[in-house]
Amino acid sequence: MPELPEVETVRRSLKPHLMGAQISSVELYLPRLVKWPQPSIFIKRLKGKKIQDICRTGKYLRFLLDDNMELVIHLKMTGQLFYIDKRASSSFPYTRAVFHLRGGAALLFGDARTLGALYAVGPKEMHRIPGLSAMGPEPLSEMFTLSYFRKLLADRRGKIKSLLLNQRYIGGLGNIYADEALFAAKLHPERAAASLSSKETKRLFDAINTVIRAGIADGGTTVRNYRDGEGRSGSHQDKLQVYQRTGCRCPRCGATIRRIVVGGRGSHFCPQCQKNRVKHRKE
Ligand SMILES: [Zn+2]
Repeated sequence: MPELPEVETVRRSLKPHLMGAQISSVELYLPRLVKWPQPSIFIKRLKGKKIQDICRTGKYLRFLLDDNMELVIHLKMTGQLFYIDKRASSSFPYTRAVFHLRGGAALLFGDARTLGALYAVGPKEMHRIPGLSAMGPEPLSEMFTLSYFRKLLADRRGKIKSLLLNQRYIGGLGNIYADEALFAAKLHPERAAASLSSKETKRLFDAINTVIRAGIADGGTTVRNYRDGEGRSGSHQDKLQVYQRTGCRCPRCGATIRRIVVGGRGSHFCPQCQKNRVKHRKE
């Protein structure tokens, strides 16, 4: 699933093409992907609107339009957005929606697994996107402070990996970057969140910000079908230390990387560097 760095890369690749562009018409090949409002109203709301800016909150892409209207898109597992200028063919596989732009260019939404979500919302309708209105602060943002992170972990008996993936606590973090951050911080994914020492908490906080920053710098991670808005792959997959490297050697100590399931999600870690134990002496 595209995570914060991938969605941010899509945003950056689309922005130069779409700023000021006017949506002339919308074609929906799979109307059920529109979650709000009804598809016919969705189309009406977007028609004729100009794109004033493109923002991102967590894994949601937000196209700010005239009249405070927003086109909000969640790519989920396999969603893709491509900018097509008028010279290019628009016959892409799995095309689910086409936003035609004045002058002949278009923004294509493709989605093989059809789990993506499209919304056209006004300023008073953000509650129609529960995942967005209830999202926690995202890494690298001003709201995501060490003291916020400390409070978040305190008294939580749940496993640290599951806590990191909960979008209500931290926005934008997903399986790839959670595994990489836990490896960088030398923490077992099944450690109880509240069992982390002060030092370990600081280490994990820094690791989260570092892996997200590195992911963005590399244009995201392409493990499945992720591409940016111009069809380019990311390159961060070449730098992954543990994610989907089951059976490979740990780049730090040489032990064999393992995969376990934590909270229903595959979790990759080094059993040597990331031992599941609490140090008795609080650091
Ligand atoms: Zn190791």
